[in-house]
Amino acid sequence: MGPTPPARVSFGEPIPPSESQEQRSAQQQVARVAGLRRVHEAFAWFRSHARELQDLQLEVTSIPAPPWGEAARSEWMARRLAELGLSDVHRDELGNVLGVRSGTHSGAPFIGLSAHIDTVFPAGTPINVRREGDKLYGPGISDNSSGIITLLAIAGAIKAAGIATRAPLLFIGDVGEEGEGDLRGIRHIYQQPRWSATIASLVVIDGAGTDTIIAEGLGSRRYEVVVRGHGGHSWSDFGVANPIVALARIIDRFTRTQVPVTPKTTYNIGIISGGTSVNSIPESASMRVDLRSTSMVEIDRLERSLRIALDHAVDAENQPALARSVRKMQAVQVEVVEIGNRPAGELAPDARLLKIIRAVDAQLGNAAQVQRASTDANIPLSLGREAIAIGGGGSGGGAHTLQEWFDCNGRDLGLRRILLTMLALSGVGE
Ligand SMILES: [Zn+2]
Repeated sequence: MGPTPPARVSFGEPIPPSESQEQRSAQQQVARVAGLRRVHEAFAWFRSHARELQDLQLEVTSIPAPPWGEAARSEWMARRLAELGLSDVHRDELGNVLGVRSGTHSGAPFIGLSAHIDTVFPAGTPINVRREGDKLYGPGISDNSSGIITLLAIAGAIKAAGIATRAPLLFIGDVGEEGEGDLRGIRHIYQQPRWSATIASLVVIDGAGTDTIIAEGLGSRRYEVVVRGHGGHSWSDFGVANPIVALARIIDRFTRTQVPVTPKTTYNIGIISGGTSVNSIPESASMRVDLRSTSMVEIDRLERSLRIALDHAVDAENQPALARSVRKMQAVQVEVVEIGNRPAGELAPDARLLKIIRAVDAQLGNAAQVQRASTDANIPLSLGREAIAIGGGGSGGGAHTLQEWFDCNGRDLGLRRILLTMLALSGVGE
């Protein structure tokens, strides 16, 4: 045996010198901010207000915020933000809550901190909140009451410690993130010239944890496909085109579509329904289709493939029926309704926001991985703007169920991480 080769130590992707220099300067910047006396006071505020933050989290969770029904929670949040001394606190026409903490540098763009205020739970869902030690229970307690509480904690600590940032901070509680809300709240904000041109970076707080940095927005498009036909009796009307069979043909053809591994692209048929009885030719059948990719090009390609499958399948199902009869009514028609559209996008690898959050994680000894997901950050990322989504600390589980929980242990780390990120981005004096 020859000499043992030197052990290979991997430090991840090789970093070009100029980039590592920029990373070093971000690191110095974060270390300076972390050493400020007022920042230590803010950290102490997080610890001394831990119980109060729990109380607020239970309180906000008990205010229902179903999709398109967030008004009561949005009013509650506007009151809290105003109490914390933010200026220009207002609710926009959709019910998004916005509030500003002014900076010392006039004209500097905003550093945004947002949390969605809606839940997946429909109106009338029983909401029972409870606390066992440091563990909080209730539907939505983590996703996204922990995000809402994060905004209140950051605003509260900055106020109490008297921290003056150079750039102004914009606090946003937005509606309509979940499911078919389709990111409508944050989308609306980025459609307003007042905000779209002035938010330099957006830090989205969604759920718990400190171990991920969502820097890639997973795009999705969702459709309801409805096939309608004449229907009839299975015996006496035999030969009439069958919507269920047409749907099966669509699925068969569409699911042969090849998708790339990179950029990761997927499709799913999630719901199928139709028909009335075993001896009836159905009058309609429908399905819901979910297309996802980190690349808009691939989503467009999947959509074309779906539409081609529809045309072919409907032709195939109608041909025999039309051949047997001149009656057009025996054919099926198909209708496609878009029920969701979340644009894809990703943060540039050299984005300042990414350097800052990595520097903050190094400063705090926190290990986090860059991941992709579908969050409010999709909207700015799809517009080529800087945004990430991270958790509010602590840990959570049972998201989107009535058994959802949030464990407050570790919230402190999440809050320090978010505060340092916001302050390093906005700049802060002595
Ligand atoms: Zn969420």
